[in-house]
Amino acid sequence: MSVGSMKLDHIGIAVRSIDECLKIWQDILGLQLNMVKNIPQQKVKVAVLDLKNIKIELLEATEEESTLDKFIEKRGEGLHHLCFEVKEIESVLSDIKEQGVRLIDNVPRIGVSGRKIAFIHPKDMGGVLIELSEKDYKN
Ligand code: ZN
Repeated sequence: MSVGSMKLDHIGIAVRSIDECLKIWQDILGLQLNMVKNIPQQKVKVAVLDLKNIKIELLEATEEESTLDKFIEKRGEGLHHLCFEVKEIESVLSDIKEQGVRLIDNVPRIGVSGRKIAFIHPKDMGGVLIELSEKDYKN
């Protein structure tokens, strides 16, 4: 695995209200809204904004006591995760695991974008949750 070849795909931001945020991010800053989607399995609503070389994910909890709701209660709104694009997610995950880094997902799952994704535990990453997303994965 070569970390240098990874690209930052998107930045996830935990917010209390996507609608309130979009009034600023979309209406005032003029960022392009790509989609708004509910992900019931994760109890979150996601809004994806497109920038030139990167996307921004605004994440809103749809249920109290969900993982994201607890995150916002504890840490407030703000940076939630960074997502790196990788080529072969399974091999990256096994390399990282071999080095003793804690993973949230040992096996990739399918993310909002339809790509294979997996999360690395923030405890080993300077407190920042890291998402890996496989490039060009076709379901
Ligand atoms: Zn993400």
